[in-house]
Amino acid sequence: MTAVGFIGLGIMGSPMAGHLVAAGHHVTGFDVNRASVDRLVAAGGKGASSVAEAVREAAVVITMLPNHPQVEQVVLGEDGVLANAASGTLLIDMSTIRPETSIAVATTGVERGVRVLDAPVSGGEAGAKQASLSIMAGGTEADFAAAKPILEVLGTTIVHVGRHGAGQVVKAANQLVVAGIYALVSEAIVLLDASGVDAKSGLDVLAGGLAANRILDLKRDSMIAREFTPGFRIDLHYKDMGIVLDAARQSDVALPVSGLVAQLVAAARAMGYGSLDHSALLKVSEQLAGRS
Ligand code: NAD
Repeated sequence: MTAVGFIGLGIMGSPMAGHLVAAGHHVTGFDVNRASVDRLVAAGGKGASSVAEAVREAAVVITMLPNHPQVEQVVLGEDGVLANAASGTLLIDMSTIRPETSIAVATTGVERGVRVLDAPVSGGEAGAKQASLSIMAGGTEADFAAAKPILEVLGTTIVHVGRHGAGQVVKAANQLVVAGIYALVSEAIVLLDASGVDAKSGLDVLAGGLAANRILDLKRDSMIAREFTPGFRIDLHYKDMGIVLDAARQSDVALPVSGLVAQLVAAARAMGYGSLDHSALLKVSEQLAGRS
């Protein structure tokens, strides 16, 4: 069994750390929110009061943080992971961040004798709770092989997609597809409602035909009920659409549909829905259609 330091025990990190405890690993967790650490302790893990304490004894460190500034602070900071981890430690950053930060973390990690993978996830809170995440890893083949037994506790689709940063590029592609589908499902609901057709019956049919997708499967009932408790917050998807557009610019490609969907996500945030689930894109579609 492995000594795991786990930093970032939020919506995703908390159930993920819990699965590692249940699998018999020795998990020491840290979060700036003390209640999250207490939750891990209640689940059988060990609480730490600093990053240093969480990583000092660890063979594997997992970070599950909101965005690149937090990863930079926690990993590269003065009293961060790289300053405290033993040589040979494997750092698996599962946060969704821009690829260039993942590459910078990996480069600095190598200088300090710490092996690094970027391994963002898809599957949402439900996937984290059910240990059925899709995990896309960037880094060396050897480090991926070393991480695999741990990742298998957290997910079911686990793929080494390429060099450092490649996991983040795949995640960006994932996020543009997810936001695009939410935008279209939202417009379908607006059209059905405005036409006087029962939205539930309509979406039930869509979910059985060529338009079928996981968002229709998992979210159509809560969207029709206008239930937007996160899940995955609009604020985080706004961050992710920024990563998508930056990555497109760096690769010199035009992604016009992604650009439009990014603006809808930005509108959701500007309208004050940042802390709602990303399915709240429906509220934007309704407002644009004059039906709120
Ligand atoms: P969250 O905000 O619920 O959790 C992040 C945690 O990090 C919080 O508990 C916060 O207190 C902690 N934190 C922030 N700064 C810290 C610091 N300096 N030191 C220690 N702890 C710190 O977010 P989440 O929904 O769990 O998402 C985490 C990452 O996973 C994000 O990058 C997100 O984009 C990605 N993600 C989320 C989902 C989802 O459905 N929620 C799905 C896939 C990927």
